[in-house]
Amino acid sequence: MSNCIFCQVISRKKAATVVYEDAEIFAFNDINPQAPTHILIVPREHIATIEDASPDILGKLLAKATDLAKSGGLSAKGYRIVINFGDHAGQSVYHLHVHLLGGRWFSWPPG
Ligand code: 5GP
Ligand code: ZN
Repeated sequence: MSNCIFCQVISRKKAATVVYEDAEIFAFNDINPQAPTHILIVPREHIATIEDASPDILGKLLAKATDLAKSGGLSAKGYRIVINFGDHAGQSVYHLHVHLLGGRWFSWPPG
């Protein structure tokens, strides 16, 4: 989708630090990191929200998030995986993305 910022990142029209890619998944550093590690894991296909996604792609995105956490050395201390949906949760980009956050303490309940 040409007006989607994450489709532009995936097609390399917009610069990003890419940390992983395969035929279905693309992962890159968040432009405005909220933790020392803040990676976005997205499907290559334009899927707007978690409600539009198949169990298959959701499973692959989450599995890749944990892979990147392990390879990034986050497992010993822990990390947080987040998917925002809609206005109340603060979803600002309507191309499904999993946030992987690590490298600091996170409060609970979330703000
Ligand atoms: P949301 O609030 O929709 O869950 O998360 C969107 C995330 O995308 C935010 O953390 C924001 O910083 C990030 N973001 C927005 N635009 C860009 C961009 O152009 N490049 C990168 N790398 N991240 C972006
Ligand atoms: Zn898109």
